[in-house]
Order: sequence, then C-alpha cells, then structure tokens
Amino acid sequence: MKTWKKRTKAVHAGIRRSQYGEVSEAIFMTQGFVYDTAEAAEQRFVESGADEFIYARYGNPTVAMFEDRIAALEGAEDGFATASGMAAVNGALTSMLRAGDHVVSARALFGSCLYILEEILSRYGVEVTFVDGTDLTAWEAAIRPDTKAVFFESVSNPTLEVIDISTVAMLAHAVNAVVVVDNVFATPVFSNAIAQGADVVVYSATKHIDGQGRALGGVILGTRDFIRGTVEPYMKHTGGSMSPFTAWLMLKGLETMDLRVRAQTATALRLAQLLESDGNLAQVIYPGLDSHRQAALARAQMGAGGTVLAIDAGSQAAAFGLLNALEIFTISNNLGDAKSIATHPATTTHQRLPDATKARLGITPGLIRLSVGLEDTDDLLADLRGAIDAACSQR
Ligand SMILES: *Cc1c(COP(=O)(O)O)cnc(C)c1O
Repeated sequence: MKTWKKRTKAVHAGIRRSQYGEVSEAIFMTQGFVYDTAEAAEQRFVESGADEFIYARYGNPTVAMFEDRIAALEGAEDGFATASGMAAVNGALTSMLRAGDHVVSARALFGSCLYILEEILSRYGVEVTFVDGTDLTAWEAAIRPDTKAVFFESVSNPTLEVIDISTVAMLAHAVNAVVVVDNVFATPVFSNAIAQGADVVVYSATKHIDGQGRALGGVILGTRDFIRGTVEPYMKHTGGSMSPFTAWLMLKGLETMDLRVRAQTATALRLAQLLESDGNLAQVIYPGLDSHRQAALARAQMGAGGTVLAIDAGSQAAAFGLLNALEIFTISNNLGDAKSIATHPATTTHQRLPDATKARLGITPGLIRLSVGLEDTDDLLADLRGAIDAACSQR
C-alpha cells in the first residue's frame, strides 16, 4: 500500500470488509458495540486494538475507513474524523494548547477560524499574535522561544494568498512549535503539506472531499502520537466526532476527488486566463496565473492553482449586479462543489470584520469568490462574460 499512488489509495486505502465481503464500503450505522464477556469489555476499555470499537464518539468502523484512507492519501501517520471542518480546526488547536501558551497565526483566515483564534483561545489564556502570512520576516519576528504552535491557511480565503509552508515550518521548528495547516484550498489532491514541513493538516471535508454539497465533515491529520495521544482524548470526550453515515459519504467522495478536483482546476485556470485577458474586471486573482503575487510559490507548493478564483467587479453595486445576472453559478457560500458557486465575501462570509480589517485583507466591496464546479467550461465562461457585460460595462 505504501508504494501506491494517490489515486489508488483514494479508492482502496483503509478498506475494512465485513464477513459478507461487500465491494462498496459498509455503513456501520451503530453507536455501540457488543462484548462477548464482561472480561472482554473490561479489556477493551483498558486497551482496544485497531479493529476494536467501544462507542461511536470514540470510533466506528466506517469512520475508521475514512480516517485511514485520507491519512494514507496525505502521507500522515493517522487521522481523526470530525463533525465539521471547524470541529477539526478547534480540536487540533484546543487539544494541544493550555493557558499561558503563545500561538502565531496568519491574519487572513476563514471567519470561523479567526473567531477561534481571536475570541475563544484568548478567553482561555492563550496569547495569539497575528501576522501577514505572506511576510516571512513578520513570522520570524513574531515566533518566540515559547511559541507553542503556528496556524495558517496554506491558501487564504477569499483573497488566495499562498503561504510558504516550508519556510514558516522551518522558523516554527527552530523553537519546536507545532505547525498546523488548514489546507482546504490546496485540496488533498495538490497537497504536499506534510512533506513540506506541516506537523498537523486540517481539512474541511465539506469542501472537495464530499464535493457534492451533501454533508459537513472534517479531519485532523498528524503523527500517531499526536492524533491518538492528544487529539483523540480531547475529541472523544468533547463530542466532535464524525457520524458513520457522513464518513461513508466522504469515503465515496474520496474515490472521485482526484478526477473532480483536476477537472475543476483545469476549468478554473482557463476561466482565470480568459477573464484576465478580456480586461473587463478590476482584478482577477488565481494562484495559477502568472500575474499572481506568489505564482512561483504556488507552482512549487501545489503544482496547480486549485478550484477557486476571485474577481473584483470594482464596486459593491457592480458585484451585486454581476451576481444577480449569473445563470449557472449559484449564489451560495460552499466551495469545492460540483456546482459552481459565487460568493460576495464582504457582505456574507466576512461580513463580521470591521471595514479596516476587510481593506487590510483585500476584501474589497467588489470582490467575488468563484468556486468552479464540474459544468462545461464554455458554458461557465459565457455565464461569467454575460454577467460581467451586464454589470461592469458602465464602470
Ligand atoms: C469551510 C472552511 C472551514 C470550515 O469547515 P466546515 O466544514 O464548514 O466547518 C475551515 N477552513 C477553511 C479554509 C474553510 O474553507
């Protein structure tokens, strides 16, 4: 199994067949497990083996299949599946941190990630220093001998800044800080985060892993020691585990993820290139474009630009006009979905931020995040060009 390529692992890794020899993974829709004897129950609570389960909040065979499959894909020793991406971010951080600890975090974060770092951790006595994630001298200045962890999104939401995983990891490892990477935009398909120095990788499985808008889920990936010794005790006692049915959806999602993400990425690149050359937008941001501020880093770190781009219509009025004129792209806030989705971050996902913070993060009134789906590229292009003509021509 170790020598298998990612696409083979995505289909076969972690499989546990029951006595019936089913081809498709079984859904073990059970909260509990029966012990043959009282002695066996006692023994299982003392130490349970890889295929011995106690209670679905602790683990379940379908969930274990998902954990083993995504861990194999990512090149991590182990993983813990969670009820949502946010349960994963929260579990990765709060399971290891305690009052008095210091954390350095990139400032450009998904709104709920920012809430955990800014509001929740500080409430429990953890000090967090925020930096511009693309500024390596800022990381160097902020990381202290007592820094316990660093946290960042490897590609930030929604402005698609790329953070240099290996350099930040080198700075963090110099003081033995744990490097936690929220890797949603990079996707497990293009990720090399662990090889590049991340200690812990977190995914919202809601995004590309399901990829079909059906369920919330997440996963924390890392060393066996960290996952079983630090994360599992915290998660199993606080109740953020993934349900068996969700794990089954995510397992089936993993089987097609590579094909979906590569197709969506090819379309995203083509749309970004053509919209940029049309010249009718104030800005087209895509890590796969040569014009991206960190194009070389994006290429070296991920080898592709991913499934999301951002465009700037110039003003909120133009952005709303554009959004309302779209026929295929739906106005929503998921990403990585088979359906193309357009989001206006300033008034939805990042509404809570003060205007000055939005400006600092590049979340302009005209910014639209486009998650590119599996539809026909020409149809999507025509949809965007039509909406841009309708909304931005008077600019
Ligand atoms: C969506 C997202 C999350 C949260 O995931 P949920 O599954 O919605 O809880 C965290 N980080 C990033 C970068 C995301 O895009």
